[in-house]
Amino acid sequence: MPKNQSSDSLVFAVDLGGTHLRVALVDDNGNIIRQLKQETPKGDSADCIVNALANAAEQWTEDRERVVAVSIMVPGAVDSDKAVVLQAPNLPCLVNFGLKAALQQRLGRPVFLENDANAAVVGEMWLGAARGCRDVMSITLGTGVGGGVILDGKLWRGSHGSGGEIGHTTVDPFSGLKCKCGNTGCLELFASATAIVRMTRESLSLFPDSTLNQVELTAERVYEAGRDGDTLALEVFKRFGMYLGIGLANLINLIDPQIIVITGGAANGWDLFAGEMHRQVEERAFRTISHQVKIARAECGDNAGLLGAARLAQTALAGFS
Ligand SMILES: [Zn+2]
Repeated sequence: MPKNQSSDSLVFAVDLGGTHLRVALVDDNGNIIRQLKQETPKGDSADCIVNALANAAEQWTEDRERVVAVSIMVPGAVDSDKAVVLQAPNLPCLVNFGLKAALQQRLGRPVFLENDANAAVVGEMWLGAARGCRDVMSITLGTGVGGGVILDGKLWRGSHGSGGEIGHTTVDPFSGLKCKCGNTGCLELFASATAIVRMTRESLSLFPDSTLNQVELTAERVYEAGRDGDTLALEVFKRFGMYLGIGLANLINLIDPQIIVITGGAANGWDLFAGEMHRQVEERAFRTISHQVKIARAECGDNAGLLGAARLAQTALAGFS
């Protein structure tokens, strides 16, 4: 966490996840002044979410005057210009809802909206592993696989707000596995926490001596077993690394970034999958560049998105002034 002296203006940054809602006050130097986490309100109505956000913002009364903007990140496709959620499987009540107008009315501040993976890559470029870089990609290995792209210092959202969806590029067209996006063989099906559990379950009968036959499977348990030398777990993480490496090699040949930042809960298995990941990149990406592209773990942890959301609002406001 930066230790710079706190500056005057603050952004009320929101990580609006399907399960948890995290809010923070972030200053111009990236210091998180206050933060809290609660469960995301469940319900069919977006009003519950608007109320929860407004209540969280209003409780920090002593800092209220310093707040210059509200910046929200959501796990889904957004129209950032209109601040409208276009698609969010975990927050269906927000789709096409006028979140910007509702919050602007309640809080009297400009409201910005961004996809969570896009916010995370901005956070890592501002204060994390990609500090000082201009061409950056990030891959979030969580329940699914997200991605963010920065080209020449600017977030690349694509022509239709859907840029950077690395998790839904095809890495195995013959697998027959159906992805929730409708495609088959997406990277997300092989390099996510969900994939670790599925690949383990499918191979249990081939490894009768594995301790994983005796436990309820989670990605963390498979990782722990791998660390203890379990052959099945090591095989699963090798496959994970192989598909991830294929995906990264494709990206490197397409974008030629300075750095690819790997983040998300499943990135904790780094020591078990990185070797195969690097091997695939070396084998498949252009040799002239594969050694120059840095592949690194994220440094901002869970706060990357909150920091990135704050940075995007700061930048937008500076552009208006
Ligand atoms: Zn997909």
